[in-house]
Amino acid sequence: MRLTVVGCSGSMSGPDSAASAYLVEARGPGEDGAERTWSIVLDLGPGAMGALLNHVDPRELDAVVLSHLHADHMVDLIGMQVYRRWHPDGPLPPLDVHGPAGTLERTRAVGGDDEDEDYSDVLTFRTLSTGTPVAVGPMTVEVFDAWHPVPAFGIRVTGPSEDGAGTVSLGYTGDTDSCPGQDAMAQGLDLLLSEAAFQEDRDEARGIHLTGRRAGELAVTGGVGRLVLTHVQPWTDKPTVLDEARSVYDGQVDLAAPGATWVL
Ligand SMILES: [Zn+2]
Ligand SMILES: [Zn+2]
Repeated sequence: MRLTVVGCSGSMSGPDSAASAYLVEARGPGEDGAERTWSIVLDLGPGAMGALLNHVDPRELDAVVLSHLHADHMVDLIGMQVYRRWHPDGPLPPLDVHGPAGTLERTRAVGGDDEDEDYSDVLTFRTLSTGTPVAVGPMTVEVFDAWHPVPAFGIRVTGPSEDGAGTVSLGYTGDTDSCPGQDAMAQGLDLLLSEAAFQEDRDEARGIHLTGRRAGELAVTGGVGRLVLTHVQPWTDKPTVLDEARSVYDGQVDLAAPGATWVL
């Protein structure tokens, strides 16, 4: 399984990155039994549709999974819909879009479309819920409750290791503050992709985001193999959140960057 950062700028697109979008791929048998690459994109924030084209052909994408419905995590779903419906080669096959309840209505609002629009020619909306895993080829996607101003999930993906010898897991916090759901999501992960939008001593509001330190604490709680920090906003000093995480977690800590890939 491999993780590629498509976009990682927090809360909005940034000067050198699209907003949140992460490509997760794994090799496994296709419908015809032949080995192929299965692809999931986690979130599709502003600018992510274009950036995604650098990494995967949209016709070969198997699923979109949305952590929550804030604009910085989902507005480019409309770009995906336009690409699929109006591609000159003809409409692309319907793509599964797994999201919180209300994802269709939210997408319609972003698109400025009428109530009779359901995008069913190119998108198939499926509602995520905790305790109900979703299979995408050889990968299993599970969601866990986050602590955020709107319904939001942490996402855990389990699948075959790149060498095919075993099973690996990665987890993505989406947007969240520390909470039991995220603690459960992080247990035993090989890689934790954690937001770190807030800074200690600067952002005191709770129930919205993790600081670098709280991301590090989540990595400790989960006993994870490595930590990747993401969703750092354009106004935040990246080394500061990195130092916060490293002050509590002894493992490898990296900052997400567009195009960066981790092979598990
Ligand atoms: Zn966000
Ligand atoms: Zn959010």
